[in-house]
Amino acid sequence: MALNIEDMRQELEARREALTGLSALSAESRGAVELDQSRVGRLSRMDAMQQQEMAKASESQRAQQIVRIDAALARIRSDDFGFCLDCGEEIAEKRLSVDPATPLCIDCASGRPAHG
Ligand SMILES: [Zn+2]
Repeated sequence: MALNIEDMRQELEARREALTGLSALSAESRGAVELDQSRVGRLSRMDAMQQQEMAKASESQRAQQIVRIDAALARIRSDDFGFCLDCGEEIAEKRLSVDPATPLCIDCASGRPAHG
């Protein structure tokens, strides 16, 4: 495979670091929202709760991204990186350069049969 695994590993680790950094920041802002709730009126309290829900949603998206990245890093360690988890074919290098954590080839990801 022509793929530069070391580049992919560095990219994945950089993305993981960015995600965990954001996570820590958002935990701080969620704490601030909770503190404010005793002092604000009903409407802004609803706003605050909505913001909190949004923060939770993006937090869980980040957590999912981190899980994907960890799985990709594990595949690098076990030499399985770059192969589709579903059909076992090589994932296109272009696709991996956009999202190194992707576990599926384009055919499997789009639900098309890979060899039909
Ligand atoms: Zn596939």
